[in-house]
Amino acid sequence: MTKFHEVLRSHGSFLLTGHENPDGDCLGAQVALFHLLQALGKQVHIVNPDPIGRSFDFLTRHTPFGHARGDAPLPAFDVAILLDCCQLSRVGPLGQRLQQSGKPIAVIDHHVGSDRGDGSVCYVDPTAAATGALVRRLHRELGVPLSSAAAEGVFLSLVADTGWFRYSNADAEVFAMAGELVAAGVDGSRIYDALYRRNHPDSAALLGEALARHRLRLGGRLAMASLDKVLMERCARVDFDTDSVLDPLRSLEGVEVVCLLKERFDGTVKCSLRARGDVDVQRVVAAFGGGGHKKAAGATLRMTLAEAEAALERSVQAALGRAEVERA
Ligand code: 5GP
Ligand code: MN
Repeated sequence: MTKFHEVLRSHGSFLLTGHENPDGDCLGAQVALFHLLQALGKQVHIVNPDPIGRSFDFLTRHTPFGHARGDAPLPAFDVAILLDCCQLSRVGPLGQRLQQSGKPIAVIDHHVGSDRGDGSVCYVDPTAAATGALVRRLHRELGVPLSSAAAEGVFLSLVADTGWFRYSNADAEVFAMAGELVAAGVDGSRIYDALYRRNHPDSAALLGEALARHRLRLGGRLAMASLDKVLMERCARVDFDTDSVLDPLRSLEGVEVVCLLKERFDGTVKCSLRARGDVDVQRVVAAFGGGGHKKAAGATLRMTLAEAEAALERSVQAALGRAEVERA
């Protein structure tokens, strides 16, 4: 029994949380862990820094999601568990409240460096494709069968972080787990429709506009798209998934790095980088205080959109150079 298993077994109540704007991996892993802990007879609450997006509302059929609202009291808990991130700074103002609670912080995560985050106890593996895969492993190690709700959560995690099994992190574990989950009754096609086939009628035009903002730089090796506040506001109004511009740009021949920049209303710029081939975008964003994986990483930059464009172009150029040296 590892220390992590012991923490789950020996405490009575848990607060599950994750990074701001929780994505499919974060939410799916929370669902799976919620049902694992309930099966062990524990009190569990999910409290995220933000409400869940509309495309994930199908999860609420079987799992209650809460989010932090100002100073409203948090449910009582013995241990807080961060999923799909390892730093309280990524949990927004809720992160500070968890820190001040003085309660132990546990981490379940698969990001680079997740063993060096804020967890006093960690269950981490940067080679795992998704945080939900780690929660699946925990079920096995603790001898708890997957409920149908937990199975749906793990499946959502896997598809969210492997791009529906297309990325290089879709390894044998992912396919074995997916097979097992579908055999257990998970309906992948229904989940796909719930996630991606309920877009607002304006979203097709917005996708076109956002894609038209892209520029090829560094001799066509970098594709960069900047979405300013005006466009972001229109996207937000119809809940348009701005990340959907990443994939068409990544499919352009010769493009090795895609950089999506989103101007936020608080004066910061959120960047998302995706890589093809050997270049390490996690190292690129680490210089700006961000993180992630070798081929998918992000950061929040405190600068203008134009400054962010220039800074990232320089950093990507250096990273492409490093990849060439390593190849040679
Ligand atoms: P995305 O570009 O979709 O926001 O994130 C890509 C990957 O990088 C995800 O695994 C995400 O968790 C991670 N990531 C995104 N933004 C940040 C950040 O500001 N800090 C850290 N440490 N990781 C991030
Ligand atoms: Mn993840």
